[in-house]
Amino acid sequence: MLADKVALVTGGSRGIGAATALRLAREGADVVLTYATAKDHAEDVVAGIRRSGRRGLAIPADSAAPDAVGAAVDRTAATFGRLDILVNNAGIYPFGPLDALTVEEIDRTLAIHVRAVLLAAQAAARHMTAGGRIITIGSNLAERVPHAGITLYAASKSALTGLTKGLARDLGERGITANLVQPGSTDTDMNPANGEDADQQRALTALGRFNSAEDIAAVVAHLAGEGGRTTSGSSFTVDAGANA
Ligand code: NDP
Repeated sequence: MLADKVALVTGGSRGIGAATALRLAREGADVVLTYATAKDHAEDVVAGIRRSGRRGLAIPADSAAPDAVGAAVDRTAATFGRLDILVNNAGIYPFGPLDALTVEEIDRTLAIHVRAVLLAAQAAARHMTAGGRIITIGSNLAERVPHAGITLYAASKSALTGLTKGLARDLGERGITANLVQPGSTDTDMNPANGEDADQQRALTALGRFNSAEDIAAVVAHLAGEGGRTTSGSSFTVDAGANA
């Protein structure tokens, strides 16, 4: 249980982030979430957090902006008095031929998927005490790239392996853990289970199925709780066996 803990989930307005915010609240945490543009969705998630009897807050914070996530971290600690759990989830899915990639797209993707994660962790570590948890959502595509068109996405997500291991070493002596959860195909707006290439994705899995967002939230909740006490610097691939 996460009673009296305070969590921040980036990109908590939809999909995996929303499911994670609601799950952490059900486990007893007060939860702040950030979003890019979907204010209504974010407020719906906050209402769900409050229905669990916990405090919730939605903060607009574009992870591509250098100062936004650090400010959201500081506001979380200032509003709720502490920060115990950071879930770096906000993400995008750049897809297309290698030749069409632009410098702007490369910079924006790396800013959201890597720089914002590092800056959020840096800011969070200033507030966390022993027992703090930093959990980042990567992708199983960091381990295996099954088709063309995702070089940038895969590169941005594989950077999180070293980032997470580095954080584990930097923060371990303070009793703070850092771990990476790498989902495979997960039914969200980003990758609907009834989308154009969903059957192809399903065919790659051992279990023949998509994850639900709640499947990923369950792994995050485990790592955030007492069960994650001695796990740090590790990656958990949750992909219905796609990379098996
Ligand atoms: P969704 O597109 O369903 O939701 C994305 C969330 O991230 C939204 O809350 C969105 O906010 C937020 N977000 C996007 N860009 C920014 C930004 N610049 N600043 C702040 N918030 C932002 O995606 P998923 O839930 O599917 O993905 C969540 C994470 O899981 C991502 O990191 C993704 O790469 C990863 N993942 C997803 C997989 C899948 O199959 N779905 C597989 C593997 C990894 P808003 O609502 O305001 O747009």
